[in-house]
Amino acid sequence: MKILSGLNLNEIEEITDSLQASKFRARQIHNWIYLKSVKTIDEMTDLSVKFREELKQIATVTDTKIKVKQESSDGTLKYLLEFPDGECVETVLMRFDNRANLTACVSSQVGCAVNCSFCATGKRGFIRNLTCKEIIEQVLTIQRDTGLKVTNVVFMGQGEPLLNLDNVLKAMEIFNDNFQIGARRLTVSTSGIISGIEKLAEIDMQSTLAISLHAPNHEIRAKLMQIENKYPMTELKKALKKYIEKTNRRITIEYLLIKDLNDTIDSAKQLVEYLKDIKCNINLIPYNPTEKNDYQKPSGNSIMRFKSLLEQSGKKVTVRLERGADIDAACGQLKGKVE
Ligand code: SAH
Ligand code: SF4
Repeated sequence: MKILSGLNLNEIEEITDSLQASKFRARQIHNWIYLKSVKTIDEMTDLSVKFREELKQIATVTDTKIKVKQESSDGTLKYLLEFPDGECVETVLMRFDNRANLTACVSSQVGCAVNCSFCATGKRGFIRNLTCKEIIEQVLTIQRDTGLKVTNVVFMGQGEPLLNLDNVLKAMEIFNDNFQIGARRLTVSTSGIISGIEKLAEIDMQSTLAISLHAPNHEIRAKLMQIENKYPMTELKKALKKYIEKTNRRITIEYLLIKDLNDTIDSAKQLVEYLKDIKCNINLIPYNPTEKNDYQKPSGNSIMRFKSLLEQSGKKVTVRLERGADIDAACGQLKGKVE
């Protein structure tokens, strides 16, 4: 059986050619898959019944299963998806205030080798990279399930996208070309893989680069993220400055706030100093407790204090809204529970 979902126009033409149908049929199928998000071939109503029957003999829409679906009281949807080899990843759909904006948070790997101390995904270790098809299949599955069109994609699910960069870049190109999601509506989040950041500078990426910094200095960062020993903050900063110079884009700095560990006045001051010559916005993420460690959520007061100290430096600072907290929509949590 051929899987239509994830094929490009040329590949669909090979199928229509094999059925002696015109190239126009391939274009129609392509639209049904990427823009109208049908679940079955029968829904492709501008194809004749006879042609649909022929197509059904050799092809099907998808082979990805929704294993678990959870809906949060704030409308956030969280999916655990299963690929044919039995491996699962999470994908989250966030609806912001106006329903016109639908952001899919996709995974790039099964598990993750970076193993940050606060992250449930990291605890599993690295299982495998997702293929380009599996990355885009996450968005297609959401579109099929909800009947809605995804408008933004962030690579903030499981995995380290810059350690699966070729497939991530291919998927971004397809989001651009086939889903008509503009480069500016795509965000790649990384724990700071410098070799990957250099590559993104080289190709002059026009999407948003988000850096999971999470700490104001080497000591704290090394405690939270082993990757700090391989790619220390001083080197990271040089790579970021080069990236910004080359692409002329503003980056996003993500900073996980953990009670008494990196939410102090001193931490805020050091962070301001580190970021002073980096063109960036800052996104503060209040830590979302997982079961396997003893980090704690920061208090509301310390979040506000931290935010205003950063704002005094003239940077734009946002606090990530808790999305889907009641369904464990933070990185890696659902999967751990199901297993
Ligand atoms: N590997 C990439 C992208 C996936 S993680 C990266 O680390 O950037 C996406 C985001 O979720 C990261 O910023 C990560 O720090 C954050 N995250 C992981 N565990 C979390 C938790 N328990 N609470 C809040 N955010 C968490
Ligand atoms: Fe991997 Fe990102 Fe989790 Fe760190 S935070 S273990 S890089 S997925």
